[in-house]
Amino acid sequence: MIEITDIEKIYHMGGESLKALDKVSLSIQDGEFTSIMGPSGSGKSTLMNILGLLDRFDSGKYLLNGTDVSNLSDAQLAGIRNKEIGFVFQSFNLMARMNVLDNVMLPLVYAKVPYKEGKKRATEALEKVGLGNRLGHMTNEISGGQKQRVAIARAIVNNPSVLMADEPTGNLDSKTTQDIMRIFQDLNNEGTTIVMVTHEPEMAEYTKRIVHFRDGVLQKDETQTPKELPKAEVE
Ligand code: ATP
Ligand code: MG
Repeated sequence: MIEITDIEKIYHMGGESLKALDKVSLSIQDGEFTSIMGPSGSGKSTLMNILGLLDRFDSGKYLLNGTDVSNLSDAQLAGIRNKEIGFVFQSFNLMARMNVLDNVMLPLVYAKVPYKEGKKRATEALEKVGLGNRLGHMTNEISGGQKQRVAIARAIVNNPSVLMADEPTGNLDSKTTQDIMRIFQDLNNEGTTIVMVTHEPEMAEYTKRIVHFRDGVLQKDETQTPKELPKAEVE
């Protein structure tokens, strides 16, 4: 469970300072699928980076699964992050010189999982996103939607409790976007908590909750019944 209270984040640049998050309080229960929406510059990525323990905040409190993460060392934060959190970004962030399987195995290599076990788990993650037949492809030989599916497999290969996705479909067409949303809904149905930043209201309709930001302030928090995705087209 994610519980933040009165979080503030201030960026300093030159002589200027900018409050990117202004006393933000938010609880996200296990199993939720939440969209974060808001105009460009409203603090969405800042919030995701803080929730995902990639960045620190200036004041307030953050409890992740009951642990106060405010005063932990970088090494302690990295330990929790590698175990609990998976990330997906708009730009995929795959390793161009590695094949699909090796990209997904990377977090397991860092975690010192033995090769054979890692290969098995990475293959299972790729099968889950429908890429069991692309293991040996190089990442420049696959489509944008497939790249994002590789990135999702890499994000879930450690079985994180939370998946953070920052505009995961920003570079994808609408059919591919629906394929990605279908994968997210399946993962969520299996118990993964998902927090997703999106600009697209249609995508937010497929999630259970929408939190709106404006100028670093949480403006509105709505719970909803997610819209049903159209059936997948058989390829
Ligand atoms: P977008 O929809 O364009 O991705 P966003 O809602 O994700 O926007 P953030 O990236 O969180 O917005 O930025 C919030 C504010 O903080 C913006 O004014 C931005 O310019 C500023 N900002 C973000 N990162 C930094 C940084 N590393 N240093 C200084 N200012 C930053
Ligand atoms: Mg952003």
